[in-house]
Amino acid sequence: MQIHSNKALFVGNVPIDAKASCKAEKAVISHGHSDHVATNKVTQYICTPETETIIRSRYKKEPSFAPLKFGKKLSFGDSTISLYNSGHILGSAQVLVEGTKTVAVTNDFKVQDSIIQKGAKPLKCDILVLESTFGKPCYSFPKREEVYKQIGNFVKEKSKQGFVVLAGYSLGKAQELTKVVNEYTDLTPLVHDSVYDNNKVYEEHGTKLGDYIKLDHNLHDSNVLIMPPSLVNHNLLQVLEFSLRKKIFSGFATGWNFRNGFNEIFPLSDHADFQQLLDYTKQAEPKLVITMHGSERELASYIQRRLGIAARPLCEKGQKTISEYA
Ligand SMILES: [Zn+2]
Ligand SMILES: [Zn+2]
Repeated sequence: MQIHSNKALFVGNVPIDAKASCKAEKAVISHGHSDHVATNKVTQYICTPETETIIRSRYKKEPSFAPLKFGKKLSFGDSTISLYNSGHILGSAQVLVEGTKTVAVTNDFKVQDSIIQKGAKPLKCDILVLESTFGKPCYSFPKREEVYKQIGNFVKEKSKQGFVVLAGYSLGKAQELTKVVNEYTDLTPLVHDSVYDNNKVYEEHGTKLGDYIKLDHNLHDSNVLIMPPSLVNHNLLQVLEFSLRKKIFSGFATGWNFRNGFNEIFPLSDHADFQQLLDYTKQAEPKLVITMHGSERELASYIQRRLGIAARPLCEKGQKTISEYA
């Protein structure tokens, strides 16, 4: 079974997360983040019902959907595919392709349970296609509960002295922050429009987030605001300070060590850290690991050396080596 990348990840003839220029007619979409939903020519998306709701609400796209619930099987050419929780965001899926070999593709995933979602469980397979975003030993995340307490304490303390802006990706992280503010403080957060819309999608699918207020010229309604990081910059913080006449404190929830003007960084990631990548791999018991995204070369070499399992980075098409065939 050939596994390669050519405007999508192809496992045999199954395209996963096809790019805009991919000519496939139908593709599996692992989850609703924009870098995984760039499929102009694809007319049928195979994804979880939750991802379908996210795509309809965020991208206003109207392809046809073949919703596939977690654990159900679907024939695709001469293979069978099924989807399993990847713990990354609402509806995000690992893909199991069963053909001549059993191939598990983690896609973006995390194994820790969060306050709003269960972590991913390893899938037993012959070949594991492993996301390697944080595939170096320097990436080690603390327990989520500890980070929640840090965020809660920061919000409680700083909201008494001024106004708190919390930044987190509008899909996934911002819902977790909404819940954390509700559970760890007595405050009700204001949330940016895009966060509000995604909060509604989570609630529609049964995830309770607590109370929150849509931001709409009502900055005085709370002392904490949840925003997408792309909108939190020096200008915004200055405008807030000027219009509220309060000191502004900012925090960013991210797995990256990235400060850029924020008062605090909270190490909260929706991806597995290095040790979790190795633990997942051990439990999946593959004969071959193919790494993709981020530190793919480093992680492949660690897996070979530390676990004694054959591993290599994903090949681009055109690289006709024997190792391309798995
Ligand atoms: Zn993602
Ligand atoms: Zn991604």
